[in-house]
Order: sequence, then structure tokens, then C-alpha cells
Amino acid sequence: MPKRLLMGNEAFAWAALTAGVRVVAGYPGTPSSELIETVARLHRDGIARGVHVEWSTNEKAALELLAGAAYTGARTLFTCKQVGLNVASDALMSLNYVGVKGGMVLYVADDPGPISSQTEQDTRRFASFAKVPVLDPSTPEQGFAMMRWAFELSERYQTPVIVRPTTRICHSSTFFDVPDHTDARPVPDEGFVKDKRWVIFPRRSYQAHGEINDRLPHIADDMAQSDFNPIATVGTAPHLGIVCGGVSTAYAREALRLIKQRCSDAGCGLPSYRFIQVGTTYPFPQQAIEPALDGIDEVIVFEELDHVIEDELQRLCGCTHASYNVHGRLDRTTRDRGENSVDDCLQRLVSFLGLPGNFATLQSAADDVSGQLHDVHAPMRPPVLCSGCPHRGSFYAVKQALKKQPAVLCGDIGCYTLGNAMPLDAVDTCLCMGAGITIAQGISVADPGKKALAFIGDSTFFASGITGVVNAVYNQHDITIVILDNSTTAMTGLQPHPGTGQTLMGPHSDPISIEQMLNAAGVTCITHANPHFLEESVHAATEAISYKGPSAIIFKAPCMQLVRPEQPARVDTERCTGCFRCIERMGCPALAKDDAGTHARVDATLCAGCGLCADVCPFDAIDAPVRDTGRTPFDGMRKGK
Ligand code: SF4
Ligand code: SF4
Repeated sequence: MPKRLLMGNEAFAWAALTAGVRVVAGYPGTPSSELIETVARLHRDGIARGVHVEWSTNEKAALELLAGAAYTGARTLFTCKQVGLNVASDALMSLNYVGVKGGMVLYVADDPGPISSQTEQDTRRFASFAKVPVLDPSTPEQGFAMMRWAFELSERYQTPVIVRPTTRICHSSTFFDVPDHTDARPVPDEGFVKDKRWVIFPRRSYQAHGEINDRLPHIADDMAQSDFNPIATVGTAPHLGIVCGGVSTAYAREALRLIKQRCSDAGCGLPSYRFIQVGTTYPFPQQAIEPALDGIDEVIVFEELDHVIEDELQRLCGCTHASYNVHGRLDRTTRDRGENSVDDCLQRLVSFLGLPGNFATLQSAADDVSGQLHDVHAPMRPPVLCSGCPHRGSFYAVKQALKKQPAVLCGDIGCYTLGNAMPLDAVDTCLCMGAGITIAQGISVADPGKKALAFIGDSTFFASGITGVVNAVYNQHDITIVILDNSTTAMTGLQPHPGTGQTLMGPHSDPISIEQMLNAAGVTCITHANPHFLEESVHAATEAISYKGPSAIIFKAPCMQLVRPEQPARVDTERCTGCFRCIERMGCPALAKDDAGTHARVDATLCAGCGLCADVCPFDAIDAPVRDTGRTPFDGMRKGK
């Protein structure tokens, strides 16, 4: 088989394909998105045969679609990030009661840090809440094996199974042997077979709950006998236990390797310990872990996000009347949030093993590398909208239209959350996908003296915004919905959505019109503008904001990552007065003061040539070539055309 260097997410896609997955669906979200993109690419290249792959409108839609496919006997794969599972949870909670016929795996990527999320929630908790088995890989290689096993487990017990990697597993790369092509496992000839089990109702739920409770101990036993909870004893008769979950297993192993090296250099013995990975967190593999803790007095637990394994060990200790002490997140022996690291595990393990403090400052090759990395002093840069980003003009125009009118600007999840930064300062609230529209309604009811506006991107509108629009019309809330339509799902990597008409299976469908959906819901005041043109944008915003009742503005211009830049703008220093309004009011990163600090200047390497700054300058001192062409900025300038 050819050997390929694969990112974790790519490897998980290959694992599912080699397991015969037939239908793959999800919603984009860092750090999970590359899995579906890999399946789509392999399908397009003729390598992944017989598979259906799609970005669904949101996570709930994806999981429900997959439930239908799994009822026919097809193997199915769901993907999302951790907060996406909140959206799909309504379906998941019931689906575990209904069960599946074809194997179903939920690939839910957690984001310790968080690096790109609004919460540090732990999907292992969600798994135990939903009574769904969960596998927690420590490396991409282990994840590859877990993914394939998860399909078997799912079919054996007719339950969805969660595979829960974290960011570093999703995004690290290693070599894998993969076949030339894969074939989806055919759906059984009988396909969907009518059966009472597919219809959930209270009496059946009660019965199904009992079936779940009955099968969980069997699943725990299967997990205990799997290869995913390895145990290693170092030295003889250890009294110390090191228990790890997820990527922390790899960090702790590396830290222990460094400690062993230092002990060898110092000519001292390494204390005995037992190393345990809990790779199958729920249901807890007690049969494997309980004997591994025999003779242990002190246990340290390394895991990320929540204290899931720690809780299980405390419970086990009580149930078995064992006498070991458990240390971890709860007593702050380890970090109580965020990511672990080799350095962090090293410090804590040196202390736990009773070694001298200077063992934690190892001059090893690994330290040299990490030291070099730390010596690169990149300047701290706050996240900012790209130069030429259409959202900048949208926010600026709305604030111009509001003038001094009291207002609350409700943001949402997407690139445009960055509108909160100065100088735009245009996001007052941000909660979760689609919440801006409904939060605005609550504010308009409780604080009618302020105009409530809701900003929402095109992808988020389809994913979670429509219900809020219907509620606004139904209850006649006085809000203005600002649609920031940049024709893509920009923040997660430019994925298509229903408004683009592009699908992962190749053929285009007709783009679904946001305006027609607003119309259909009963929004009667809808204005439009290209946000790169200030005057028309302020006019459109003014009209919608002054309307009493639900209104909408559609700002439409493509994301800068989709288009080739125009000729850069240029400052005429004869006209420039040095008022710096262009810099201070918009915050485009391509604009700065010149070296003398007397005029504005445009960094031609950053400028996208959108021309918005030319509209903002009151002294006509900025020349944007696109304005002279009579064309709309970026019209017909899509990349690849
Ligand atoms: S707004 Fe115009 S006049 Fe003022 S600094 Fe910028 S380019 Fe110069
Ligand atoms: S034209 Fe002006 S606003 Fe647009 S990217 Fe260039 S400097 Fe920024």
C-alpha cells in the first residue's frame, strides 16, 4: 500500500473510508473540518468510491440525515467541532434510544485552549450524558485504529459511537499506509425495513433505556479487552500511578522519556511507576483499570478539558474500597483548563515522582528545539478583519447610519465577530450560532429605547438564523437584521453552503436566495448594498434601521479570500491633511501613518484595492483605481477564473 503523509483529520477520513463508510455529513468547525474535505477530495479524484459526502445546513440536519442512512444499514460518519454537538444533541439523545443498523461514528473534535471556540466543553461528558460510547485517541495512529473499531462496536451494539480527538491530534501529521482506492460497503439488499424500533414514543423509550443500561456494561468489557487502554509498569512493585487520556498520554510519555534520560545522566534510579492510558473513557473500562491500580498509593491524572477520568478513578476508589489518592484537575495538581504540554507534564511529574526540582529543566534535544521556538519573538497581533474584508464596510456603514442613536449591536459566530475590535467596536453581544437575531429581539422587548440590530453571516443564516427570523416576524419585533453575505463559510476555510449552490458531490444546485427566504418569512423591508461603497451602504442601512418592525439589510460582496485583489489604493500627500480618519475609523491593516507621522500611507502589499478608504477620506486624498474603472470591486475577479 502507498505510504502517505497525512494530517490527523485526513487519516481519520481514510480510516472511515477503509471501514466502508457509505454516507459522510457534517458542518464545518475548527478543528474538525478537514475530515469531510478529505473525503470530498478523494471522492472527486475517484479514490473514494461509492461514498456520499456533504456539508449539511447544520449539525442537526447532518446527524438526522445520517440516522436515516444508518437505518438502512449503511455505515455513516458525522463530523463537527465540540459546540456543533450541542446543535446535534437533540437528535443524538433520541437516536441512542432508537439505535442504528449500519455502524454510525460521530467524529467530534474538541478544542482545548480554546483556540477557535466559544467554550472548553468536553465531549467525553456529552458521551456519558447521552450514554454513548466514546473513544479518546492519544495519537493520529491510534485514532486511525479507533475509528475502524468504532464502526464495528457501533454495529455490534447498534449504538452511535463517538470518536473524540483534540486539536493537536486533528492537526498533527504522520505517515500512514493507505490503499489505492476504497469502496463503500454496499447497503444490504433489503435497505430500510419497517420496524417499530424506528419510531420513538414514551413506552418504547422506557424499554430502550433499559436496553441501553443493559448493554453499557458489555461495551465496557469490550473496551477493557481492546488495545486502547495500554498499561506499562516501570520498575518493580510501583506505588505511583500515572493515568492519562487523549493527547496528554503522548505528552506524559515524552516527559517520562526525558526524566529517564536525566536520571541516567545523574546516575540515579528512576522511581517505579505504572503508566495507564484510558483511551475508552465511557463506559469506563473498569475491568482493565481496576487491577492496574492494585498496590498503587498515589495517582496523578493528565487529561484535557474536564476531569472525566479523575472522576471515574475517584468513583472506582470508593466502589472498590481502594486506598489510593487521586490527584489532577480537581486539586490543581494538574492544569484545571486549557492545553497540557510536554513541559507542563514534565514539571508535574518531576514533583510527583519525588525527583529534584532541577530535573524539570532538562537540556535535551527536545528542549533545545522548543527553546529555539520560544526564542522567535513574533509580535503579538490581535485578530483583525482582513484588508479589503467586506464586513469592515458593513459595520462602518451601519454605525454611520445610526449616528448617535442608542443601539445594541448583536453579533454572531463567524469572521465578523472580529467587528468587536477597535476602531469598529461593532459587536456588543456574541453567544452561539444564530443567537444574534434572537438576542436582538430580547433586547428590543426589554430595552425599547435602544435600536437592536443583529449581524449574521450567510452560512450562519442558513445554519441557525432562519428560526430567529421567523420569530421576529411572528412576534413583530422591532429589529434590523444585517446579513453579511460574503458567499462562503469563511472562518472555517471557505466551505460552500446552500447560498452558493456548490455541493461536495460535484453538481451545483440552484443557490438558495437569502432575500427570498426573508420575503417568505414576511420581512417586508429589505435593503441592499455593496459594502465597499460607503454612500449606498449608509443609505441602505438608514432605510432599514428607520423601519418600525423587523427589517433587513443584505450587504453582499465576496470574501477577500475568494477574489484576486484590485490595484492598490494610493494616498495623494498633496491632499492628505493627516487627519487619520481613514486609519482611526476603519482599522484596515493596509493603512498606516507614514514614517514622518504626517500623512496616511497604503501598504501596497496588503491593500486589496477595495476602495472603501477613498470613500471615508473627507479630503479626496485617496485614489483607488477600482473606482475609476466603473466596475464593482472584485466583480468578475474570482480566483481561478
Ligand atoms: S482620511 Fe484622508 S486626509 Fe485623513 S489621513 Fe487619511 S488619507 Fe489623509
Ligand atoms: S483600498 Fe483602502 S480600505 Fe481597501 S484594502 Fe486598500 S487600504 Fe484597505
